[in-house]
Amino acid sequence: MRLKFSTVGMWCVVGLTAGISYGQTQVEPEVASQMLQAQTKRFEKQVVQVTDNVYTAVGYHGANTSMIVGDDGVIIVDTLFGPHSAGEAAAAFRKYSDKPVKAIIYTHSHGDHTGGASAFVGRERPDVYATENFGSAEGATADAGPVKMKRNARQFGRNLPEEQKTNRGVAPSNTYDKDRGKGFIPPNISIPAAGLKTTITGVDIEFHPAAGETDDAMFIWLPEEKVLFAGDNFYQAFPNLYAIRGTAYRNPLKWSESVAEMAEYKPHYLIPGHTTPIQGQKQATAMLSNYSEAIRSVYDQTVAGINAGKGPDLIAHEVQLPEHLQDKPYLTEFYGSIPHATRAIYAGLLGWFDGNPTTLNSLEPKRKAQKMAELAGGVDQLTAQMEAALAENDYQWALELSDHVKWLDEADRKRAREVKIKALRGLAAREYNAPNRNYYLSYANELESGQLSEVWF
Ligand SMILES: [Zn+2]
Repeated sequence: MRLKFSTVGMWCVVGLTAGISYGQTQVEPEVASQMLQAQTKRFEKQVVQVTDNVYTAVGYHGANTSMIVGDDGVIIVDTLFGPHSAGEAAAAFRKYSDKPVKAIIYTHSHGDHTGGASAFVGRERPDVYATENFGSAEGATADAGPVKMKRNARQFGRNLPEEQKTNRGVAPSNTYDKDRGKGFIPPNISIPAAGLKTTITGVDIEFHPAAGETDDAMFIWLPEEKVLFAGDNFYQAFPNLYAIRGTAYRNPLKWSESVAEMAEYKPHYLIPGHTTPIQGQKQATAMLSNYSEAIRSVYDQTVAGINAGKGPDLIAHEVQLPEHLQDKPYLTEFYGSIPHATRAIYAGLLGWFDGNPTTLNSLEPKRKAQKMAELAGGVDQLTAQMEAALAENDYQWALELSDHVKWLDEADRKRAREVKIKALRGLAAREYNAPNRNYYLSYANELESGQLSEVWF
């Protein structure tokens, strides 16, 4: 009997059923549920006083927003998604300081950090700081916009009913999203690639462009307070080196280097773009060093696999974090996924071709399905195998068989659809990677309500 051992943060899981291959982020349902609940605490709505003059609002939307109190004004780092959520955070901040906002800083251009700026601004127009290449990634994949919208909704579980919602990995599931970007104020001060050291309302502040999740990212350093604002290059979960909603290549080498650079500052306080701030120099520095090493290791292992002639499917099942990093809760794959990261690296370096001539001209899906049915001894037998896989909770195999059965004219395609729905829900119950879980559940619901076209089922 083969046992799968999986150590995930503080959770040690001895799993599951012999002969069934579960994904890297699959555990027993009760454990998955406990893990997700524990992770949700990392973005519970609250204002954290980080130092005498630095406050971070967590859980007011998906990301964090922070206020730095200066002599005659305050500085806001990141502004949430829209004026509604930002307005709530601004009101919460005013309990600690009602000085006017002198400056707004965008750590990067993602909408959950930039859309609510107007809510912080009074009569005085503040300076708005961002890197000189701010927004450079925007529009790069716009041609695929329609499908990206659907995949985005699935990844974040936007259309899930309340009882199916847990979280979005590094963000709560229930956010106010109707005013996306409505409060955006364009930057008027560009930070050059070399960075900038300045003083704003008496606060010494350093801007350090550092690519990672986006090319236009920077981190902010307060040398007096020893506070580091990491933006989305650090949060308490394995980094989302690839987003299943569909994103352009995120360069892991640059990301790893940027986080290593942050660690060199040995911050006493580390404020992530999402999830709660970290206090304590030793802990904050170790987290950044380990985060950097984790990204670098996944990249190096993938490259080694590539150069050994392995394809992405094999590499995705082989790459693991180094052993000394496997018990770190902030590297648990609640958001990013190591298998997905390896596939993104493969495609980013080499494109779609896996080097195996078999895949140069793969069989057309319907033809392959017919051959699979012949191999099984007929459509009925293939359907029976699919049903048996589901009955044994071998969900991934049930899914793969249903994706053949769906093409077969003479098959009971309704039954294949039902198997797929159940298998997706079976996987979701065991899944602690929030994007995977949300995607499984959303897709199952879409199948059930007949929203998906024949191509998909
Ligand atoms: Zn973000």
